[in-house]
Amino acid sequence: MLEEPRAFNVLITGTPGTGKTSLSQMVSAELGLTHLDTGAIVKSQKFYTDFDEQYGSFMVDEEDEEHLLDYLEPILVEGGKVLDYHSCELFPKRWFHAVIVLRVDTQPHFDRLTARGYGEAKREENMDAEIEGVVAEEAADSYDEDVLHVVSHNTLDDMCAAVELVRRLKAEFDTRSSRAAAAA
Ligand code: ADP
Ligand code: MN
Repeated sequence: MLEEPRAFNVLITGTPGTGKTSLSQMVSAELGLTHLDTGAIVKSQKFYTDFDEQYGSFMVDEEDEEHLLDYLEPILVEGGKVLDYHSCELFPKRWFHAVIVLRVDTQPHFDRLTARGYGEAKREENMDAEIEGVVAEEAADSYDEDVLHVVSHNTLDDMCAAVELVRRLKAEFDTRSSRAAAAA
């Protein structure tokens, strides 16, 4: 029997450079949630088979993915988490009460990836993916409309607005949960 999360969880997804980690840190600081950077977990727990030299990225195969999901399951069931990853279709829908997809315009995206020191191949790949809306489409195919929020994330004002959105979604979840508990 798969357990339901015991508190509010949010997934923050988007192409690398859209600002997932920055927003996740602000959300965790403001709302008292725990931030989990999935890429950092893949790296520290060695849930990868190989390292792509050209793109400078870790290759996560199906078996790695299973190990990652087994590792995350009890943590997400505990609730109160912000999960941050550049992909979203691998996770069970059950884990999340809200899914935020960050979008960024081409110019700020280029500037951020350049500042991060990405090589041309990796920068082009990520900019193309963002222009095509690959992650947004993946999220639309993987999650229900009522939990999905696609958000522009070009400026600091956008980041503050996204924090307020998550604050509202968490408050709505908390209200529903306490009503259900009172009725039970
Ligand atoms: P991701 O985790 O999606 O790869 P990061 O959070 O690491 O992205 O952000 C990449 C860069 O963009 C960082 O230098 C960060 O300061 C900047 N950044 C992120 N979000 C915003 C935003 N809303 N407005 C301006 N700069 C941002
Ligand atoms: Mn990140």
